Amino acid sequence: MVKETTYYDRLGVTPHASQEELKRSYRKLALKYHPDKNPQGAEKFKQISQAYEVLADPKKRKIYDEGGEEALKSRGAGGGFRNPMDIFNMFFGGGMSEDMDEDEDGDDDFSGIFGGGGGGGGRGRSNKPPPTEHRLPVNLEQLMLGTTRKLKLDRKRPCAACDGRGGKFGGETETCVTCHGKGVKLTYQQLGPGMVEMHTNCPTCNATGRMIATKDRCSVCEGLRTVQDTKIVPVDIERGMHHGTKIFLRGEGDQDAGQEAGDVIIILQEKPHDIFKRKGLDLYTDMKINLVEALCGFRRTLTTLDGRTLVVAHPQGKVIDPDDEKVIVEEGFPLFRNPYVRGDLYIKFKVEFPDAVDNNFIAEFEALFPRGPAEELTGEEETVTMTPYVEEKGQRERERDIYHEDERMETDDQPAGCRQS
Ligand SMILES: [Zn+2]
Ligand SMILES: [Zn+2]
Repeated sequence: MVKETTYYDRLGVTPHASQEELKRSYRKLALKYHPDKNPQGAEKFKQISQAYEVLADPKKRKIYDEGGEEALKSRGAGGGFRNPMDIFNMFFGGGMSEDMDEDEDGDDDFSGIFGGGGGGGGRGRSNKPPPTEHRLPVNLEQLMLGTTRKLKLDRKRPCAACDGRGGKFGGETETCVTCHGKGVKLTYQQLGPGMVEMHTNCPTCNATGRMIATKDRCSVCEGLRTVQDTKIVPVDIERGMHHGTKIFLRGEGDQDAGQEAGDVIIILQEKPHDIFKRKGLDLYTDMKINLVEALCGFRRTLTTLDGRTLVVAHPQGKVIDPDDEKVIVEEGFPLFRNPYVRGDLYIKFKVEFPDAVDNNFIAEFEALFPRGPAEELTGEEETVTMTPYVEEKGQRERERDIYHEDERMETDDQPAGCRQS
């Protein structure tokens, strides 16, 4: 008898479930709730992952069966859970080893969903400048197929001419022009919605407040110890990355003399596409068909983001309603680092009706598509006129305008005091 069944319930299995059943169930649910496929699924995905993490480990499962969640916590079975995305990647063999490095480049783009995975903890604080962020616009084709983009980075680097000293070795010194002798520099850093004031060591004088005197200064960096440098860096955009994916370029950012180089973070910005819209792993598109096609069937071609041509056909004699939606399974986006998992492609049909019908054909239409029985009228009803609806200005708004006009006219024509007495 197990103490509680919450973890089993999350995976939809009984407490007698075999390892095989657990795996099967985790596989199914994890794919369903993966945040790439299901943006609202993050919390569910996490819960499934935690349940699986415990139940798949015979030792942890025994502790859980005997004492429930409480026992897991108190017996310190590893303390806390792994990042759900790591569990997922391990399960599906997303190229990660059992002892994965939590700071590994590339998986960080998911950490935001689960409250910041690895990062920070443990490592000694370095005197590395904060990372530089760049937004890189990419189109859907590039995200679908993966590509390498070349990016020109402007960054600050130690001056090679003076070896980052700012001038002659042992040269005379004077007050630092950057910090005016204070040795510290005030910088502002974005933290959440606000800016935070930060005091950092002045990089020009290395916090001494003094720099090499003019006569002994390096002519290349003019005593500033660093120079502006440009580098072309290749950026690998992998298949299945999405809007907001962060790509880390370690050590490619600013560097002050005698310090570690900062990182560059590339944040992908998905450009709108003419034909497809992407939501998670799924793609959406509208297809225009005319009335005959809607009523009698049609055949169209559609070029996919990876350049293939699909034939989309609807059989003769089958009707498509306006705004009907059809799905082509697995023609959506591949899952990041797991291209065998793919989303679907949804096609919404926009039926274009003719502007008018020739009077000669009305009888034939009526024969083909009979009207319902006509309603009996008593003669008491009111006949009204329908006018075209102007979309940019709704009926109600027009009424309000008229009301305002009336009001204005009244006050204009009859100044205060001259009103009816
Ligand atoms: Zn200084
Ligand atoms: Zn120099």
